[in-house]
Amino acid sequence: MRDRLRLAIPNKGRLVEPTLSLLHASGLVFEEHDRSLVSQVANQPLDILFVRTGDVVEFVADGVADVGITGADILAEAGRELPIIARLGYGRCRLAVAVPSDAPVRAIEDLAGQRVATSHPSITRSFFRERNLPVEVVPLSGAVEVAPRLGLADAIVDLVSTGSTLQMNGLRAIGDVLASEAVLVADPTAQEQRPADLDSIVMMLGSVLAARSRKYLMMNAPATHLEELEGLLPGLESPSVIPLAHAGMIAIHSVVGADEVWGLLPRLKAAGASGILVLPIEKILP
Ligand code: AMP
Repeated sequence: MRDRLRLAIPNKGRLVEPTLSLLHASGLVFEEHDRSLVSQVANQPLDILFVRTGDVVEFVADGVADVGITGADILAEAGRELPIIARLGYGRCRLAVAVPSDAPVRAIEDLAGQRVATSHPSITRSFFRERNLPVEVVPLSGAVEVAPRLGLADAIVDLVSTGSTLQMNGLRAIGDVLASEAVLVADPTAQEQRPADLDSIVMMLGSVLAARSRKYLMMNAPATHLEELEGLLPGLESPSVIPLAHAGMIAIHSVVGADEVWGLLPRLKAAGASGILVLPIEKILP
């Protein structure tokens, strides 16, 4: 067994920035160099391997890395049965079936006998095979969205997040094949040999992800308003209530969902709260 755990992450593309931001936020101290090959984490026995997004699965499946971060779609396409030990909540997208906007196609079933271009040929073949729909899959490594315009295919299966690329290319989605996001995968041998190390990574990354969707709320209020204010604070955490030097006044501290703050503040104010502070949280360990 190696002394230092190895984590493979993408060195290029759209998963790089959110991945580096998550690792730094979790407290790992490392330099990014020119994102070539290996970076040693200074404060943990961990080495970060920068590899192509599509190669992360191979590195982990072959045991060259113990854990890796890649897209769920890439893992599914690679067809390697690697355990996903955490879903990371960024890089969200869906693999969608799309056709030219003016095509007389309404549903997936209408594609029988047609050509479908994709950079995910394996997932696409399984998808149509499972539905007993014979299609000709045209594998492409990029620029899938222009295939119908070039006469290469009648439909595409491609990654979509907002849908604006489809729209720009005169395409319309008619169904979904798969929902994807960035995932942390593990080498099963590492999982067996060093479960505590892997648990620590999952816990530390998870603590950052949990914190990102919450805010720390502090406010002062007359003690007589406590019940009403407590009623407004959602039940994520029981609030801390602290007596203030000013008689009859209390401070209330609570953790709330970040998306609830907008709706909550005017109601807290109306219920007697003052000096309301909303603070970001770095990590949450339940
Ligand atoms: P890359 O090709 O290296 O930029 O990474 C592509 C990966 O980023 C995909 O396999 C997905 O897992 C993820 N991703 C997230 N949103 C999108 C999107 N709108 N288009 C393509 N890939 C996306």
